[in-house]
Amino acid sequence: MPGRNHLYIPGPTNIPDSVLSAMHVPSEDHRSPNFPKLVTPILENLKKIFHTEKGQCFIFPATGTAGWEVAITNTLSRGDKVLAYRFGQFSHLWIDLAKRLGMDVEFHEVPWGEGVPLDHLEARLKEDKGHEIKALLICHNETATGVTSDLPGVRKALDNANHPALFFVDGVSSIGSLEFRLDDWGVDVGLAGTQKGFMLPAGLCLLGFSQKALKARETAGCNRAFLDIHDHMVHNPGGYFPYTPAIPLLHGLKKAMELMLEEGMDNVWKRHARLAEGVRCAVRGWGLEMCAKDPKWYSNSVTAIVVPEGFDARDVMHYAYHRYNLSLGAGLSEVLGKVFRIGHLGDLNELMLASAITGSEMSLLDAGIKVTPGSGIAAASEYWRKTAAPLAPRA
Ligand code: PLP
Repeated sequence: MPGRNHLYIPGPTNIPDSVLSAMHVPSEDHRSPNFPKLVTPILENLKKIFHTEKGQCFIFPATGTAGWEVAITNTLSRGDKVLAYRFGQFSHLWIDLAKRLGMDVEFHEVPWGEGVPLDHLEARLKEDKGHEIKALLICHNETATGVTSDLPGVRKALDNANHPALFFVDGVSSIGSLEFRLDDWGVDVGLAGTQKGFMLPAGLCLLGFSQKALKARETAGCNRAFLDIHDHMVHNPGGYFPYTPAIPLLHGLKKAMELMLEEGMDNVWKRHARLAEGVRCAVRGWGLEMCAKDPKWYSNSVTAIVVPEGFDARDVMHYAYHRYNLSLGAGLSEVLGKVFRIGHLGDLNELMLASAITGSEMSLLDAGIKVTPGSGIAAASEYWRKTAAPLAPRA
């Protein structure tokens, strides 16, 4: 099909040209005296993006899923109790992984479209007087439903209960696009992948560990080998890795983080918030519902849109892909066929997103869903126009 594919799945996301160019490098010697010049600033900038001065960041040649395992195996022992809430495919998969690693997983079902229920969490932590719960597995942004949970609220629940559980955060679709502060929010392990807010291909798993989590490693009994942070703690200070790193991805990460820090993380978060609200205006313009049940859950990196009863969201995606070269995110598992998703994270601006909205609108109509032509894009564009940064008139 002529023209480029319009990629609006919630990861992998669009890669800026300068990041693509940065990855176009010849092979190099990862044990050379020059190599730390690449690695050391990357580890320093990663700390800025995770908002940690006290903690330590790690990079594994892996994906977000490995990050779940790194968090657990480096801090806990087989049979330890962990507490989680299941409200989408990714919170579900983390629970499944924790079980497979031999954790005693206590999980609570939450309707898909909601996030971490803070009252329940605080009550459960207060009830756990013997501190049997060793860690919380919290999916910050449930990519399957477009729901963001309140991380400072989780920290408050831990503090109110005076509970010492480790606080693990899956930030795969939040870190780098939504506000995240490892130190200020008392997060013990935060984890991300490169293919979302970091605007890169998949292939690196990025983590931030608090001092408390680093200390927990000393007594953690889980078996670990390739994913042991200790080997990184030995090699990283000199600017090296314990095994052959994915060098082109490191060059890409360096460039991507430079772009993010140049824009400023506050501005990155604000841009995502404004773009996301435009998408939500479009959904309201169509008269459709979001999967996120209440504004307090709205995600600024992905919106899951519910198709009306009697329709199948896969038809919308079918027309989008085959007629308009537009890739939308599918509904996963329990919401298969019920929702389609627009990913709005990473290297993105209003008019890029306008193509996703227009293409979705055309595909909704093609699938027989009666939305008013132009209603979505009109609502989004008016919102973006009215909230645009002031610009001096042409001289
Ligand atoms: N967690 C969340 C919230 C995700 O969205 C994803 C992937 O989309 C994952 C974890 C798994 O990450 P990966 O596919 O990089 O292993």
